[in-house]
Amino acid sequence: MTNKVPDSLIDLCTELGQDINLVQGAGGNISIKQGNDFWIKASGTWLADARKSTIFVQLGLKEVLTAFENGSNDFTDCIISTNGLRPSIETSLHAIMPQKVVVHVHSINSLSWVARKGGDKLVAERLKGLSWAWIDYIRPGLPLTQLIQSVIKDKPRVDVLMMANHGLVVAADTVDEVKDLLKDVEKRLLPPTVTSSAIDEAKLSTLLKLLPEGCRLAKNKQVNILAQSEEATELIREGALYPDHVVFLGHSMPVLEPNELHLLKEVLPASPHCALIKGLGVILGSSCSLSEEAMLECFALLAPTLPAKAELSYFSAQQIGELLNWDAEKLRQAADKMRQSEMENAKK
Ligand SMILES: [Zn+2]
Repeated sequence: MTNKVPDSLIDLCTELGQDINLVQGAGGNISIKQGNDFWIKASGTWLADARKSTIFVQLGLKEVLTAFENGSNDFTDCIISTNGLRPSIETSLHAIMPQKVVVHVHSINSLSWVARKGGDKLVAERLKGLSWAWIDYIRPGLPLTQLIQSVIKDKPRVDVLMMANHGLVVAADTVDEVKDLLKDVEKRLLPPTVTSSAIDEAKLSTLLKLLPEGCRLAKNKQVNILAQSEEATELIREGALYPDHVVFLGHSMPVLEPNELHLLKEVLPASPHCALIKGLGVILGSSCSLSEEAMLECFALLAPTLPAKAELSYFSAQQIGELLNWDAEKLRQAADKMRQSEMENAKK
């Protein structure tokens, strides 16, 4: 039994973490089981950082499963070697899967289906031949793992989970197998109508001239599609379709007319620290974090793959409140802020 995360898994984390179509910001997590050693990504860390910093926590598998069976979702007591990191809020989900390697991503291709009403029927044909299950939306953490357990317990080994309003899980016994499976599933889930419209550079230049001091535009120009495309603005304006959007951007995106930029000083200090300027682009305030920016990128990629608002399954006010008031998410936001300030200090 090796007492370390295999290099092949670190490579996989880095590869997936650098692909914005699969992982955005601190989202997504990976685990591996070696006997009773259970390694899981830490809460608030980024998969993309796997090579340059420690992102895994080592836990005892039996201990995690016992704590879960006892109704707990706090696994800090199951940590084998402490490194100051907290296990992912999705730890129990990884633990109950019988496969050795579990990968969970909020990929654009999976979100495009799990955000739709009746998504289970829409993906059935595409996933035909795979051992997969649909999991209705329920808050991540203990309730989600309990639901997964009840769904998969009577089925032959399930390798793929499509989680409504959340994302995708693929599981296999080796790193290579999980990689192949993820590739296969992603290919099957590729949405048929990706009408990624090009960014209007002239409008962006106009916005750049109007940009107030301390503000910036997103690194990825495509983010501006959220303001340049009326359909995309409509989709993001009021409402959220998956947990990380709620956690990092809230559920209501400020939209201003180009002649309302004086309102930015009231809008930008509050979360989500950015605003859509109708027809022009997206302005990011000085306190807009990399995670907020990553979630904007996510929605900019997702929006062109989505049908009209009426066919989507938006979170209810109650579901949003449940996510925002959940202590585990507050800790994840805090860990993410810590990473951001460490990066800023490193730059100085
Ligand atoms: Zn997730």
